[in-house]
Amino acid sequence: MGKKKFLLDYPIFTDEMRKTHTVLIPSFMDSHMELFAGAFERKGYKTRLLDNCDTLLVREGLKYVHNDTCYPATCVIGKFLDALKKEEDLEHVALILTQTGGGCRATNYVPLLRKALASAGFGHIPVITFNLGDLKRSEGLKINLSFLFDLLAAVTYGDTLMYLHNKTRSYEKVKGSSDGLVKKWNKKLREELRLGKASSIRAIKKNLRAITEDFNNLDIEYTVKPKVGIVGEIYVKYAAIGNNNLEEFLVSQGAEILVPGVFGFLMYCFANAEYDYRYYRTRISHKLYSSAILWLISRYEGWMIKAIKKYSKFEAMQPFKATRKEAKGIIKHGAKMGEGWLLSAEMNELIKIGYSNIICAQPFGCLPNHICGKGVMNRLKKLHPHANITPIDYDSSASKVNQENRIKLMLALAKEKIEE
Ligand code: SF4
Repeated sequence: MGKKKFLLDYPIFTDEMRKTHTVLIPSFMDSHMELFAGAFERKGYKTRLLDNCDTLLVREGLKYVHNDTCYPATCVIGKFLDALKKEEDLEHVALILTQTGGGCRATNYVPLLRKALASAGFGHIPVITFNLGDLKRSEGLKINLSFLFDLLAAVTYGDTLMYLHNKTRSYEKVKGSSDGLVKKWNKKLREELRLGKASSIRAIKKNLRAITEDFNNLDIEYTVKPKVGIVGEIYVKYAAIGNNNLEEFLVSQGAEILVPGVFGFLMYCFANAEYDYRYYRTRISHKLYSSAILWLISRYEGWMIKAIKKYSKFEAMQPFKATRKEAKGIIKHGAKMGEGWLLSAEMNELIKIGYSNIICAQPFGCLPNHICGKGVMNRLKKLHPHANITPIDYDSSASKVNQENRIKLMLALAKEKIEE
């Protein structure tokens, strides 16, 4: 076990460490994480996904993180510490953590992790940071253009898989067949990304077509089911450990689910730079750089939407520029802490496209998302009286039974409406 180090003197992940260290990635999305690992492997990083979802990890996190801190931080730090306590070669591992940037508390997750590492005797372990709002400010990670293309390809594949998985998993005739396709494509694409064969425009279009056709050919039988959209703080929205396996639970209760993709959140982070420039006088270079990335992402998003429209019977998702307009009349684009206006816009959009039952997953005490989630519900219900929106709080002391009972009530109401 490494020597404790003074917190300000934290170790930096160097280029040489790519050859010697294994980067531990805290998995929180089934459809995407293998693909991100493939993109990192392509750049010479050795990776290991931490996919343990045991709720005991939360207790591990609570030993080092105050329970007032955001629940996602408790979960992720618990996951890392659990992995490090079982690690045999502590001199050759590193951790990676994303940061949203901006004023939200997620910006402080890295110092929080470093403090927890130091307290647990792992202060010598380097932490790579991945800054979502400003890629240039990531630490220990050099994001050049080719790496960016690999990462965007990974998100394109991940979002497509997640979307088609949700479109089919509730209607499959052979149980597990939709899950099986996600696993198959994750394995294949991780390898292709590792070898640099999945990121060219040609490869992306070819793979998107094959993925879409694969899901389109699944044996499914449509029955009328309540359609439920899941929105909320990004970690508890996606991570099974953060939301007590919400997706599985909803599907087991006979619902069709829709979870907005990662592209929406990424584009939201970059789109906010325009607002910052206009009202807070931030550097024009940052605005121009963010606009360029936004334009680039919208191309990948376009290929994904086009493939779903062209090669499948499924309705495709809306592009980000349409989602952005959905905030109008509900919340201003200046509300941009946490998931900010995106959360309100996603709810409005989901209701309009038929997912009028919505679960808004919130870490307990998460101020920005309570404002942009719970805070706009009255307005949404005025606009859409049929909307059935249930906010659910997630944190270390929340009772799973209580959460599931509230969701069952929401589903009972949804089923009643279908029968009417
Ligand atoms: S969005 Fe909420 S839970 Fe996430 S970091 Fe910000 S305050 Fe914490």
